[in-house]
Amino acid sequence: MAKSALEKINPPSSRKKVLILSGAGLSAESGVRTFRESDGLWEEYDVMEVCSVEGYSRNPRLVADFYDARRMDLSEKQPNRAHEMLSRLKNKYPSQIDILTQNVDDLLERAGCPDVIHLHGTLTHLRCEMCGNVFEIGYQSQSDAKCPACQSKKVRHNVVMFGEEAPMYAKLQESIDECEAFVVIGTSGQVLDVAWYAQWFEHSLLNNLDPDVRLDPYFKVVYHEKATAAAEKIEKYVEDLLAE
Ligand SMILES: [Zn+2]
Repeated sequence: MAKSALEKINPPSSRKKVLILSGAGLSAESGVRTFRESDGLWEEYDVMEVCSVEGYSRNPRLVADFYDARRMDLSEKQPNRAHEMLSRLKNKYPSQIDILTQNVDDLLERAGCPDVIHLHGTLTHLRCEMCGNVFEIGYQSQSDAKCPACQSKKVRHNVVMFGEEAPMYAKLQESIDECEAFVVIGTSGQVLDVAWYAQWFEHSLLNNLDPDVRLDPYFKVVYHEKATAAAEKIEKYVEDLLAE
């Protein structure tokens, strides 16, 4: 990790910083449907029609309906013990833990977790295509939505599509540079190359349901089980690191 000039003058305390990155596996036990699980979305929708720039330009109505349905679906879900565990850690060590997620649901927030960085956007917000304003819509349909800043009705989902920049990736890079430990929960590494990142960390932990030879060897600690089953061990791992 690169150390800033300031750190060299004033060595940081021995307290470590932990980056916790989560993916679909964190919310799977709450019943949030994704394209990456065999839970039906693949059968109902073509991912490139509803999650890509090309699909959106072809049929914005279909995409709006898709995200309306995702929002409705999310309104009925509840955070699970793994969301609650992450919330506990972040509340206990607000400046020593970065919580980043690929998930667009709000289950971490609903578990009470502050300052969650959503790498791929959020379902519960819309973005104005005229002025760029991002505003909360909760679980409602976007059909009658209007930008509160400029009153435009040209609004869209606030989820990053294939073929689009993901501006929050800059935060991920920042966090990778700053943290000494990397905890990954519930991601296959298909979108973000977590195996590659893991090599840069002194400490690393991976929790995924299934073994994966492309990922597992790059992490120092690996738990193959559901996120809620591993939650207590992950919490202890992070607590032990920060207590050192
Ligand atoms: Zn606007």
